Amino acid sequence: MAAQLIDGRAMASGLRRELAERVRKLAAKGVKPGLGVILAGNNPASRIYVQKKEEACAEVGIQSVHHDLPATSTEKEILKLVERLNADRTVHGILLQLPLPEGVDERKVIDSIAPEKDVDGFTTGNAGRLFTGKKSVTPCTPKGILKLIDSTGVDLKGKHAVVIGRSNIVGKPVALLLLERHATVTICHSRTKDLGEATRQADVLVVAVGKAGLVDQSMVKRGAVVIDVGMNRLPDGRVVGDCNPDVREAAGWLTPVPGGVGPMTVACLMENTVEAFLLAQKALGKVAGKPAEAAERGLHGKD
Ligand code: NAD
Repeated sequence: MAAQLIDGRAMASGLRRELAERVRKLAAKGVKPGLGVILAGNNPASRIYVQKKEEACAEVGIQSVHHDLPATSTEKEILKLVERLNADRTVHGILLQLPLPEGVDERKVIDSIAPEKDVDGFTTGNAGRLFTGKKSVTPCTPKGILKLIDSTGVDLKGKHAVVIGRSNIVGKPVALLLLERHATVTICHSRTKDLGEATRQADVLVVAVGKAGLVDQSMVKRGAVVIDVGMNRLPDGRVVGDCNPDVREAAGWLTPVPGGVGPMTVACLMENTVEAFLLAQKALGKVAGKPAEAAERGLHGKD
């Protein structure tokens, strides 16, 4: 039987609606979350990603303020803008769209973002908190992936999860989140000797590489949950994931591309921004209660 498709578009739309409702209630108190968006350079894909995120902000009721910087921007100029947004009380989250122009030290700029405004969860400090199981901002794509897996009703405890890809933004953090949820985790990458041997063990398979057709049905355990993170543009203009279409014949659940992980990444950015806003308000004593995300994490390392 063909795999059930996990409708990331519908899930993301539901999450945005929930967030919009929360923001609407807060707006009645005269407060509103704000996202500072930095787009440096002319990367066409980055421009589309930023546009999608700003559209989502408008839907949720987050005030997004766009800062367009030329491709010739220096590291100093970008650092100066981050510093200004760090100090701006109307900005609760900072979205630094990557890649940054050539010659700019990305790590240095990312790490200049105030940890409480790091809604992508990319700073070294927040990555370290995730690693040690402390409450932190969960990076958007991994957070969305966990929500997609949870929507299948599959309990991760004791399951074998295999992640292909070891990037700092997807592979590594998603592996940590799966481990935190008590899965047995294997991470594969470009030097893995026999990829199929590892993937065939997976009850849950997360593919985050960027190579169309990398995984086919012969590499997938029957009934597995397969999350296809890859986004590849084919010469004919179509966007496809890393899984061959025949994976649908073996998997139990599968995320489509487009319409799977992508929309959830954007919705989770909205969620992180609203939660950063709530934490800021709480620090000022304006809003009671604790944000859901802060309450939900912090188990890592404990049996
Ligand atoms: P990356 O290039 O930083 O990392 C790719 C990883 O794949 C590396 O760790 C590498 O070791 C591994 N790899 C390369 N060739 C391999 C092979 N033959 N076998 C096994 N592993 C191999 O990429 P990334 O930033 O992690 O993104 C991965 C993919 O996910 C890309 O297609 C990207 O566009 C997509 N992505 C989608 C979203 C979304 O929201 N939908 C978000 C982030 C990334």
